[in-house]
Amino acid sequence: VQESLWFDEWARRLEEAASRYAERVDRENLAPRELLDELEGLGAFRAVDEGPLRVLQAVRAISRWSPGTAHIVLVHSSSVLAMGENPGGIVAFSMTEPGGGTDILANLQTRAEGAGDGYRITGEKIFTSNAPYASHFLVLASTSEGPALFLAPRSDRIHVEPLDLLGLRGSGASRVVYRGAPARLAGSPGRGVKEALRGINLGRLGYAAIALGIADAALSIIASAGQKVVFGRRLVEYQGIQWRIAEIAMERAALEALVEKTAGTLDPVAAASAKNLGASLAQKAAWAASQILGGRGLARWSRTERMMRDSRVLDIGEGAREVLLDFIASRTLRSLQA
Ligand SMILES: Cc1cc2nc3c(=O)[nH]c(=O)nc-3n(C[C@H](O)[C@H](O)[C@H](O)COP(=O)(O)OP(=O)(O)OC[C@H]3O[C@@H](n4cnc5c(N)ncnc54)[C@H](O)[C@@H]3O)c2cc1C
Repeated sequence: VQESLWFDEWARRLEEAASRYAERVDRENLAPRELLDELEGLGAFRAVDEGPLRVLQAVRAISRWSPGTAHIVLVHSSSVLAMGENPGGIVAFSMTEPGGGTDILANLQTRAEGAGDGYRITGEKIFTSNAPYASHFLVLASTSEGPALFLAPRSDRIHVEPLDLLGLRGSGASRVVYRGAPARLAGSPGRGVKEALRGINLGRLGYAAIALGIADAALSIIASAGQKVVFGRRLVEYQGIQWRIAEIAMERAALEALVEKTAGTLDPVAAASAKNLGASLAQKAAWAASQILGGRGLARWSRTERMMRDSRVLDIGEGAREVLLDFIASRTLRSLQA
């Protein structure tokens, strides 16, 4: 790990804050206000103003302990990037609807209607992360000119119902109902999906950064649990354990390089690739960390339990694995036929 790029003093402070609250966020499925204030004080919600790499650095550092907390920073940053402005506070990204997430346009029921100077949003969304914390909601809604992004300030016309999911707990993923919520246009009519994709590409890279954080945590758990002497040798002296460490370290190095390279371009194929590779790495790493702890790795609400549950979600959120595979394949074929 290059100390200066990923783990400077700022990242260490974010990691330390996350470590103090990680178990509570997971158990309560909610990030306490004190934690959000601490992250705000450290500038986590302004990192996006310094570019994608700064966001990814924060996401990786926080994910060593609490991917659910890192997700709050990531979704806020993706929303800001999609609309091209940071309204302050925390922003929620509200695209997916109960009718389907992957095929968003086929099911877009939420609509915006002009009202005076602004608009009114009506419809139902699901899996809107950050909803319990948000000062603003970035909503994809249909208009007579096609889908568009709207920014709705929190109001009593926005009803939030947090979901009780098995992983990324505390990310605030919620069912959200908009009942004529006042909003303003945050992009160009007809270009809503294209604008949202800028944020989604950062989101996918962010999922890879969450995976890097989980791999970091796994390696440090394996190194320390591996000091235990079993049958006369330390666990880390067994080749079976060493090869597991090497596999995780190799894949982590490759993913780290891909994420660094893609942070500058937000290339959609590279971002989708990083996300799928990251999900596999995180699942492998979480499983290995749990295994080396033996029975102790099975404790309810433990760090390794959280890693296993959180890594599971990486194959579904920000686009299901299969959908990204289809996308990567079609772009690859197109480039081969060009
Ligand atoms: C923790 C979490 C946070 C989220 N945060 C947000 C958020 O902040 N904002 C937001 O708008 N959305 C958010 N989402 C929604 C997320 O983007 C969707 O869950 C995702 O896009 C998948 O959509 P879906 O769940 O509706 O699955 P569906 O589209 O119904 O797909 C179901 C399953 O079908 C399979 N499948 C789909 N297409 C294919 C195919 N072509 N070939 C083979 N199999 C296929 C996949 O395995 C997929 O998992 C979040 C989800 C989670 C879990």
